[in-house]
Amino acid sequence: MAKRKERTPGKRTRAAEQGKAAPFLSIVIPLYNEEESLRELYEQIVTVTSGMGKSFEAIFVDDGSTDGSFGVLQELHKGDRRVKAIRLRRNFGKSAALAAGFQVTRGSYVITMDADLQDDPAEIPGLVEAMGDRYDLISGWKRKRQDPITKTIPSRFFNFVTARMTGIHIHDFNCGLKAYRSGVVKEVSVYGELHRYIPALAHWAGYRVGEKVVNHRPRKYGRTKFGISRFFRGFLDLLTILFTTRYIRRPLHLFGLWGIFSFLIGIAIDGYLSVEWFLGRTSLSNRPLFLLGFLFIIIGIQFVSFGLLGEMINRQQPHERTYSVRETLL
Ligand code: UDP
Ligand code: MG
Repeated sequence: MAKRKERTPGKRTRAAEQGKAAPFLSIVIPLYNEEESLRELYEQIVTVTSGMGKSFEAIFVDDGSTDGSFGVLQELHKGDRRVKAIRLRRNFGKSAALAAGFQVTRGSYVITMDADLQDDPAEIPGLVEAMGDRYDLISGWKRKRQDPITKTIPSRFFNFVTARMTGIHIHDFNCGLKAYRSGVVKEVSVYGELHRYIPALAHWAGYRVGEKVVNHRPRKYGRTKFGISRFFRGFLDLLTILFTTRYIRRPLHLFGLWGIFSFLIGIAIDGYLSVEWFLGRTSLSNRPLFLLGFLFIIIGIQFVSFGLLGEMINRQQPHERTYSVRETLL
């Protein structure tokens, strides 16, 4: 009896050391050339999580850094096995880095945050608390943003349009600091630059998305990794998610509707002109409107054909799961 008692805790500690026991929090941190910030960030995370009295793993994903970032991570990992590091082979972008991290999380809750110290680890307990029973994802809202105006103004516009188009009423889609129930990150698939739309993807899968104001700090070291091109790409990605999530299984609904609309306008215009011509009131050779009507008709037919082609391709695809289950009692 006595022996067994001794052995069990020993085993458990060893398992914990090897990182076998699942932690409460998995903190996923994508980074690209942030060597100066990493140690400080790690220390802040340790302070905050020990204040919470919760276990954690910090999963740093080095997105092909060319500075000493990975070296710093190796040292941190050596000193504390709760620090995990994944090194991507080249710079794949923030979405890919997040996806790589999401794959290995084991915690009940997942936090994502930027590595540049702009996101404050002190917000972590508040985010988890805000989730409570009501939400599956809490997105940070940098109400007072510590960034240059060239970034804040386009960002407002971006957020406004995205909220309108996706139907999710949050203010700050692109905040790096978010908290998730672990199921969310295992389910949403983040690629391209879709990290901006994680709240939208989660919302469409039926997860409950909330928002909380968070503290935002100015960048201390290094510089931003995204230029102005972020906004154009951001909007292209908005198209992508609208297509791939809302309409992927019913392309004709998207194309067909606009196609028929355009076709009818074209028919109306050209029908009117034809009657005029028939009555001898006009000559079609000096009516540019005729060409416009023609254009509408052709575009209409094309759109309907696109939609039908989409449906045919859709029929050939193995249908992956398109729904998400919250609970089962079997
Ligand atoms: N990042 C990354 N891969 C990239 C670009 C950025 O992992 O290709 C990381 C970056 O190191 C930082 C986070 O994503 O931790 C946010 O980047 P940044 O601070 O440059 O964005 P901003 O705050 O200017 O929006
Ligand atoms: Mg930043």
